[in-house]
Amino acid sequence: MLFRTLKKKDLPRLYDRLSDGNRIVGPTVKGAEKDGKAIYAFEEISDFNNIHLDYTSTKIPAKKFFMPFRETMASFRMKGKEWDKMVSFNMNSPLVFFGMHACDVNALNKLDKVLLGSHYPMPYYAAKRKNMFIVGIDCIPQPYCFCRSMGSDTALHGFDMFLTDLGDHYFVEILSDTAYNFLRQITNEEPAESDHARYMKVAAEKNRKFTAHVDTTDLTKILDMEFQADVWKKWGDQCLSCGTCANVCPTCYCYGVDESVGLDLSRAQKTKLLYSCNLIDFAEVAGGHNFRPESHTRLKYRYYHKHRGFVEAFEESLCVGCGRCGESCLAGITVPEVIASVRGEES
Ligand code: SF4
Ligand code: SF4
Repeated sequence: MLFRTLKKKDLPRLYDRLSDGNRIVGPTVKGAEKDGKAIYAFEEISDFNNIHLDYTSTKIPAKKFFMPFRETMASFRMKGKEWDKMVSFNMNSPLVFFGMHACDVNALNKLDKVLLGSHYPMPYYAAKRKNMFIVGIDCIPQPYCFCRSMGSDTALHGFDMFLTDLGDHYFVEILSDTAYNFLRQITNEEPAESDHARYMKVAAEKNRKFTAHVDTTDLTKILDMEFQADVWKKWGDQCLSCGTCANVCPTCYCYGVDESVGLDLSRAQKTKLLYSCNLIDFAEVAGGHNFRPESHTRLKYRYYHKHRGFVEAFEESLCVGCGRCGESCLAGITVPEVIASVRGEES
């Protein structure tokens, strides 16, 4: 990894270089909460001034750009007894993510493990993931963020360059040749000793701002022991089975495949639709049998997938601690409270 510093006034020049021939996605203001706080969203940007690098977190993660809610996998055209199959991985042009927080970079790293590194890689995801450039940016922890507990408060890989605000300039971590070649077109400097000291001070100040925590000590064992615990019923009774938590989660990737045939039987299409394990028919199989008919069994499954099964497969949790699910849940169900209750702690 290389380290440089970049004056803030030169950041628009970096944007200009990156946007030359590429689509840029960045955090932008989408609206306002009742209390006037901004609602942020990742959107395609055409003007540097619309990027809000001081954003808190976006309601919806960036996954709609590399794992869209609805995606055509293949279409078919029938001609008599012959048929053609058309497959597109739906990659139109490279995407530059300008201002992604460490939790969302780590979410991509986790998705990579299962969607790129497993026995059956997902080509629709791979095509987009291999054609993205990521400029990460440091964040200010919010009351609902517990990324530090999940080891996702800093990103060690998965980005091209990462910016940390040191006042009038950024400390820049460079991970890829592409990032190096872009940055060398703009005035930048070797960090001084004082920049290293300032970087460490900023990191320490950030760490002190975390207020939400999850105790992950022995969590997989505790989940094994507490599989039949009454707390699952308690949270399940509260859950509305709305699926919002999966929709806003940067690491939820479950999907269903819909097959449709045109009325004249000359066309057909396979469509991938993101799904949520909390939805009532998630576990419904052929014949109409539903092997998770109760909300608590589905809610429990989501937690066991993220904090038990994924850990067994990849030695890390499938949760980055962004807190989006708890913030969006109409029933007020949050990961820190659920895990604390399973551990027998008062919530
Ligand atoms: S958002 Fe809340 S209520 Fe909706 S499915 Fe998730 S846990 Fe249940
Ligand atoms: S489970 Fe909740 S806190 Fe964890 S990554 Fe998903 S949305 Fe974020």
